[in-house]
Amino acid sequence: MSTEVLSPNPPLAPWLQTQLRSLLTQRGHAWLLSGPSGLGQFDLALALARAWLCEQATADGACGVCGSCHAIAVHTHADLCMLMPETLSLALGWPLDEKTQDDLDSKKRKPSKEIKVDAAREAVSFTQFTRSRGTTKVVLVYPAERMNTITANTLLKTLEEPPGAVKFILATEAAHQLLPTIRSRCQGHTMHWPVFDEALAWLAAQAPTEGKAGALPAAADLHTLLAAAGGRPADALSRLQAGPSNASAQHWQALPKAMARGDTSALADWAPAQAVDALQKLCHDVLAVKAGAQPRFFSAKDLPTSKTGGPGFLALGAWSKELAASARTVEHPFNPGLMLESLASRARLALNAK
Ligand SMILES: [Zn+2]
Repeated sequence: MSTEVLSPNPPLAPWLQTQLRSLLTQRGHAWLLSGPSGLGQFDLALALARAWLCEQATADGACGVCGSCHAIAVHTHADLCMLMPETLSLALGWPLDEKTQDDLDSKKRKPSKEIKVDAAREAVSFTQFTRSRGTTKVVLVYPAERMNTITANTLLKTLEEPPGAVKFILATEAAHQLLPTIRSRCQGHTMHWPVFDEALAWLAAQAPTEGKAGALPAAADLHTLLAAAGGRPADALSRLQAGPSNASAQHWQALPKAMARGDTSALADWAPAQAVDALQKLCHDVLAVKAGAQPRFFSAKDLPTSKTGGPGFLALGAWSKELAASARTVEHPFNPGLMLESLASRARLALNAK
């Protein structure tokens, strides 16, 4: 269990605060917050749950100081059911039920990356039987796409006709993977993208406490990391938390040319999924520049240049397809080291093709 001190009222990023205000003006017992990763759907979902359960909520959300807000801050609210994969509950410090915790403690099995059907059954019984401390009960499901068909069907009826004052918030980074029946029973909210500069300011405000480097990250490094994350602030923050920001930014800037040289060591510290993601971004930017557009993830000066006009559309298109195929299987590489080597050698070929 995590021992970190939890802030009773964590400040919400400004673009999430705007969305929270808007959601709170609308009726609805089941919301589906969807959008690509890194836009803050979990934070928004929790802020919405906090506001619904707060004893003195305002149009801006929860008060942050009442008994309910405090109970959520210490992760023990009797009227809030967090339906998440076990790996995520552990990572975020939300308690598991006793039986699951026992199984994991005694190493009978590993924590699940999926939302288990047992957990969904618990959630259904939570909506039916648990005595509530206030007037509302909330089930928060995240990431909703981690429910398989059986788990989703377990939840379906309750989602359609929730007993009493039960509200649902589902948050997802892959809405297309959800059962259509789940999607159709929720009111949809598409996550807003923050403006780049707004996200940059937010990232800079998180950096002093979140960065591990000790020193404040330079603005230029934060800019590089946010661009590397495609402008998704929460993804950029994860990069920042993973290591010193200057090293991470320099590594990113050096990547395109290292790949053009076939330098495998540039991928060495990464998991295969991260490497594939980075190469997809590189391929995207090389294609964009070739088509006369601006690069999105890298700075134009860092991309490999060639006197012959660089790789052709055909070679880049083929590389892009291969990377997409790798992305689908990358969770279970046969041999991660070999995979990185083959990714690097394929990148060199594509970037040097005529
Ligand atoms: Zn409150």
